[in-house]
Amino acid sequence: MKQRLSILGSTGSIGVQTLDIVAENPELFEVNSLVAGSNWQLLAKQAIEFDADCVVIADTTKYEALRDALSAYPIKVYTGSDAICQVVRSGEVDVVVNALVGYAGLHPTIAAIEAGKKIALANKETLVVGGDLVMRLATEKRVPILPVDSEHSAIFQCLTGERSPIRRMIVTCSGGALRDVPKEQLRDVTPERALKHPQWSMGAKITIDSATLVNKGFEVIEAHWLFGVDADRISVLIHPQSIVHSMVEFEDGAIKAQLGTPDMHMPISYALMYPYRASRPSERFDFLANPTLTFAEPDRDKYPALDIAYDCMRRGGTAACVMNGSNEVAVAAFLAGKCRFTDITAAIEYSLERATFIEHPTLADYEASNEESRRLAEEYLRQCK
Ligand code: NDP
Repeated sequence: MKQRLSILGSTGSIGVQTLDIVAENPELFEVNSLVAGSNWQLLAKQAIEFDADCVVIADTTKYEALRDALSAYPIKVYTGSDAICQVVRSGEVDVVVNALVGYAGLHPTIAAIEAGKKIALANKETLVVGGDLVMRLATEKRVPILPVDSEHSAIFQCLTGERSPIRRMIVTCSGGALRDVPKEQLRDVTPERALKHPQWSMGAKITIDSATLVNKGFEVIEAHWLFGVDADRISVLIHPQSIVHSMVEFEDGAIKAQLGTPDMHMPISYALMYPYRASRPSERFDFLANPTLTFAEPDRDKYPALDIAYDCMRRGGTAACVMNGSNEVAVAAFLAGKCRFTDITAAIEYSLERATFIEHPTLADYEASNEESRRLAEEYLRQCK
């Protein structure tokens, strides 16, 4: 039987590549619902092409344009963030691909778990913000959460078939767009420069998060929650070639790594087809053309966000939620030319110093903490002007 998908964030980088996998495997998948933020034109085109049952546009001002574009088709059109949670709960959905960006992904993940849907999770912010609550709920409801992030997919692949405890996880890191820019020059980096990632073509927010290493910090937190491993056993290594996607070391000294050309179609298809693999027309990896794989320690002085993330993970509670909320605000400000690159990490530090800390948060506490951290980041950014 075909798996019926709800693809949240279908118009984004991961969403579009997920639809490539669907198009390559029409006997395995069909699209039930597609969700976007505001890009109603692409959403309408995708809905028609993939014969979706319904679509949701989060931005209510785009609802009429989308409804008019689809008026000749039997496709239901909804708007608003509550509608996202409603479509994922539908009895017509088997798998939810969460490729939303930011905090907006948390509630739909929870709605999907509560409704017992299998989840292919790209939205790392879900676990950064509410990993404790989300993983407890997923265990209680016996809902599988399959990682889409390439590093976590690599770790998941390394762990498949293993029953013994692990010694450590090594999350690899390309170093982002600014890896060759000296620390003293980071202050003057433009958004255009920071968006030029050497290996991966991704959405704007994650590309900036990669340049600050906030993304790597978030991935460490994501690995902690997904695989139940504490901070001390997760390390980060700079690997500029982005060929080794991450590694696991076992207690007997064996290290397993997953390698391949940087291409998100691979982890997306693995999450959708696990325990099987897709047969894809991808290029064969040429070892002889890539004879050198190098590894280095991240520069923690140049990239303070990595240690901030470790700190948040150790503190638990709402700490990482505050880091995430303030980062979202600061990244948007940087992309809009309203602050400097180095203000992103400074805004996170400012918010973490002032935010209310709740040790055992409920979903409502995360909501309040997200709001507070956004307010604090805005307060910091006003002082920067
Ligand atoms: P994009 O910015 O490319 O896409 C984000 C998607 O979410 C778009 O469809 C966007 O719609 C939609 N969206 C944004 N805000 C809202 C909202 N408030 N409500 C509903 N929909 C919204 O992001 P990416 O695809 O790059 O990343 C998605 C997630 O996957 C992130 O969490 C990222 O960290 C993670 N990830 C991404 C990787 C990549 O290679 N891109 C790799 C690993 C993880 P619209 O187009 O209308 O704005």
